[in-house]
Amino acid sequence: MTDFIISLPKAELHVHIEGTLEPEMMFELAARNGVDLPFASVEEIGAAYEFTDLQSFLDIYYQGAEVLQTSDDFRDLMWAYLERAASDGVRHTEMFFDAQTHTNRGIGFDVFMPGFAAAMDRATAELGMTSLLIMCFLRHLPESAAIETLEAARPYLGQIAAVGLDSSELGHPPEDFARVFAMARDAGLRSVAHAGEEGPPGFISGALDSLRAERIDHGVTCDQDDGLVSRLVTEQIPLTMCPLSNVRLKAFERMEDHNLKRLMERGVKVTVNSDDPSYFGGYIADNYRALEHGLGLTHADLAVLAGNSIEASFLDDEAKAMLIAEIDEMLAD
Ligand SMILES: [Zn+2]
Repeated sequence: MTDFIISLPKAELHVHIEGTLEPEMMFELAARNGVDLPFASVEEIGAAYEFTDLQSFLDIYYQGAEVLQTSDDFRDLMWAYLERAASDGVRHTEMFFDAQTHTNRGIGFDVFMPGFAAAMDRATAELGMTSLLIMCFLRHLPESAAIETLEAARPYLGQIAAVGLDSSELGHPPEDFARVFAMARDAGLRSVAHAGEEGPPGFISGALDSLRAERIDHGVTCDQDDGLVSRLVTEQIPLTMCPLSNVRLKAFERMEDHNLKRLMERGVKVTVNSDDPSYFGGYIADNYRALEHGLGLTHADLAVLAGNSIEASFLDDEAKAMLIAEIDEMLAD
């Protein structure tokens, strides 16, 4: 079963690059840059990763990002993720980055964008893996800050495929960011948004209507509203779900309770992703495996999920068709 999961051509569509910072690299970069960490050891970091909800995770996550200082740090961080994802059978990835987490501490686009580009170019050349960047706005900050971020990103828009919306969801409805998303669309960027992770189903409809999100990141609360589920099915709006993250942040008590399979059976286009793999205990193949064990998914189910990830990506039709044909061939064997 493990080999089947790894061999399946997959796209990862919901991964925060800052959330791939492994404790070992956190220490290495802290030492390289003379940053003081509030942890004495890798074990202590592990103990701090016992989260109770989204906010308890975000507090530690923003602290960890402080070790990222130079272009080389961003390059090394992203390269480590790309190599790891490739070993899990990820053929294409669309990675989130939180520009404001860095610009707010004086680290500019001129520092992180060249680092990202170096890692992505190397992945194309050495791993045969394609990748895109999605710039997320932090929703706990005002829309004016998101607009400033979009303005600062203008010289780098050629390197950015889409905008997204992340960070603390409760109390921060998508409608608050309608203006900056419209500006991003005018600049030629596509849009996705986190919605319905902890927030109500209305935040999912809000992301579709006011942000014109083409995909919903998470969307686990959609099943509290049957009308919304029907809409997701009719319009084939992909959900980028992150099962291990949901269990770690207590959206579901146990993997057995996760609604991914139920949504899939109702015809929702669900995909499987790792979110913040170093914090939530697993990369993409670990998420597929957790679903296989927790929800009893079959090879055919896993292939549908992988196929959904390719179809829901921003790859062009030709690239999608090639990867889908590979999946079909695996099933025919
Ligand atoms: Zn996320």
